[in-house]
Amino acid sequence: MDIVCLDLEGVLIPEIWIAFAEKTGIEKLRATTRDISDYDELMSMRLATLKAHGLGIHEIQSVIGELSPLPGAKDFLDDLRQSYQLVILSDTFYDFAKPLMAQLDWPSLFCHRLVIDDAGVIQDYKLRQKDPKRHAVEALRSLNFRIFAAGDSYNDTTMLAAADQGFLFCAPDNVKAEFPQFAFTEDYSELRAMIDAAASAP
Ligand SMILES: [Mg+2]
Repeated sequence: MDIVCLDLEGVLIPEIWIAFAEKTGIEKLRATTRDISDYDELMSMRLATLKAHGLGIHEIQSVIGELSPLPGAKDFLDDLRQSYQLVILSDTFYDFAKPLMAQLDWPSLFCHRLVIDDAGVIQDYKLRQKDPKRHAVEALRSLNFRIFAAGDSYNDTTMLAAADQGFLFCAPDNVKAEFPQFAFTEDYSELRAMIDAAASAP
C-alpha cells in the first residue's frame, strides 16, 4: 500500500496568514519567514497583532471559514483517496486549518497546535517536533509503506527527500532552481500522473 503525503498551504489551500491579512486588512500579518527569519519572533509578532486587534480564535476561524481550497483541490483529493492513503503534513495549526479541512472532508492532518485560553485568546503555540514532515515520512516508511510526497516550499524539501519519490507542486522559481532533483508541476492532473507513474514502478 502507498501513502501520499501532501503539504497543505500553497498546495491545497491558500497561504493562511496572507489570505487572513487580505481579508482583515491587517498588513503586518502578511509577513512571512522571508521577512522575519526567526520563526519565534515571527509568531510572537503575529500573536501580539491578533491580540491588539481583539482577534481571538473564534473571529479568526470565522474569517478563515470564508476562504476556500484552491480550485481543483477537492476533486484532486477525492480522486486520489480512492487509490492511495492520504496524510497532510503541514506547519500550520489545527485550529487555523479546521474550517478548510471541513471543506476537504477531513483528511488526516499532522500539524502543530495553539494554546488558547477560555476567552478564545491565543496565548501561545506549540510545535509538535522539529522537522516534523521528514519525521512523519520516515516513520511511515518504517511501517513498510511507500511514500510519495508533494510540497511547494523550503519546509517541504526534507520531506520530499525522505520520501520514495518527492515532487514540487506550484513551487516558486527559486525553490525549483535550488532543488532540481525534484520533478515539478503546477497542475493537479499532472501531479496525479506523476504519482501514478512512481507507484507503478517496480
Ligand atoms: Mg506550503
